[in-house]
Amino acid sequence: MGHEPNHELRRIPPVNELLELPSVLRQAQKWPREAVVDLLRLYIDELRQKVLAGLVQVPDDRTDWDVRLGEFFANWERDLHLRPAINGTGVIIHTNLGRSPLAPLAQAAVSRIAATYSNLEYDLEAGERGSRYSHVEELLTQVTGAEAGLVVNNNAAAVMLVLDTLAKDGEAIVSRGELVEIGGSFRIPEVMKRSGAILREVGTTNKTHLRDYAEAITPETKVILKVHTSNFRIQGFTAGVDRTDLARLAHERGLLLIEDLGSGVLIDLSAYGLPAEPTVQQSIKAGVDIVTFSGDKLLGGPQAGIIVGKGELIRRIKQNQLTRALRIDKMTLAALEATLKLYLAPSLALQEIPTLRMLTEPLEVVEARAQRLAAAIRQTCGEDAVIEVVDDLSEAGGGSLPGTIIPSKAVSLALPWIQPLYLERWLRQQRPPLIARLSQERLLISARTIFDAEIPVIAGLLSKSREVSK
Ligand SMILES: *Cc1c(COP(=O)(O)O)cnc(C)c1O
Repeated sequence: MGHEPNHELRRIPPVNELLELPSVLRQAQKWPREAVVDLLRLYIDELRQKVLAGLVQVPDDRTDWDVRLGEFFANWERDLHLRPAINGTGVIIHTNLGRSPLAPLAQAAVSRIAATYSNLEYDLEAGERGSRYSHVEELLTQVTGAEAGLVVNNNAAAVMLVLDTLAKDGEAIVSRGELVEIGGSFRIPEVMKRSGAILREVGTTNKTHLRDYAEAITPETKVILKVHTSNFRIQGFTAGVDRTDLARLAHERGLLLIEDLGSGVLIDLSAYGLPAEPTVQQSIKAGVDIVTFSGDKLLGGPQAGIIVGKGELIRRIKQNQLTRALRIDKMTLAALEATLKLYLAPSLALQEIPTLRMLTEPLEVVEARAQRLAAAIRQTCGEDAVIEVVDDLSEAGGGSLPGTIIPSKAVSLALPWIQPLYLERWLRQQRPPLIARLSQERLLISARTIFDAEIPVIAGLLSKSREVSK
């Protein structure tokens, strides 16, 4: 009793009618309306082709349309390879999970700039070519106290570019205690080799004195490089040299002092029980000529490499041909500008920038979230499940605040229908994936690194895991 295809096609409702369906309204809460309209058009286009080929019929009624569209949307998102994940690990700046989630204002800034043309490299005043670096330079000077700044693709690029500009074909002096390798094969000695600077190691692994630096200076020396020892900490009998002394030595001998701060914190976090890390402002104030740091570590913004320091040096760095190859894109700039603007009101930055909030959230607040998560899981998984709120430990991650352990809370669970080992793996393969840990035959979900909005999603996933064992 096949329908005649052209007649069948006429039964497709207009797009504005479909926009009223519950599945479409749900999608429109997550996505811009225009994107949802495009998805509808894609669906209708596919449907038409299949109807004309005699493969399917047009959905019969509203309910049928609603179900089919719901499935289509879910599949469309499912097919995107890069997807959101739930971080239940307790590692806040998780490099493998994309480091820092963006503040809501930074997210909004990205979609605003992504959607249309912008003044990225256009000087609206002069009506001619402008500089992409102009958008954040003043903000950078405001929040760091430096004279000038520019931003490149990431901090590895920033270090490379700075050395290439200021130390090429000369020597750079580095303390042996600071010759670090950072995850993902960023090795200071290798980077220096690439940039054409010759490395002069001074001191020993645990101790380097000012005189070690002074004695290493030759006519070939161009810079003294100080590197933040991310990822590890040397404990015990150690000595490093104060920045102010190092800056004085460098300047007396006609050299530059460069510091790779790695994480680049702008707010002193020691008031929140975290170790006192040198802030970018302190480093600049101590007389360091150029400071580099990441945008997506403790700053809590997008992936970027930020370079701040003396105006004359920044000008030379901007003119380096390599800068063009390492340049930052417009979406990143949008996110970075919005993130930096939050720092003009530090208490707001601490609340709105997820990385900072997670790092400084009081234990009671984390515990309350853990209790809400436990209650939600009890509701979906029933009484047979073993669900407890337990003490846990978090860490900053991303090589930031090495060795610092942050007291935290987690939900520990054992579900009667699935082994924890299988559950952990199954959860990673869901949409959205939940990355959790195993500990003593239990699954642990950290309450410090999940968002409140993810609580019902996690409870739903865990309940769905019943189906796996069948
Ligand atoms: C993380 C880090 C880098 C690399 O920064 P990316 O932004 O990941 O490229 C370089 N130096 C130090 C000291 C770091 O901690």
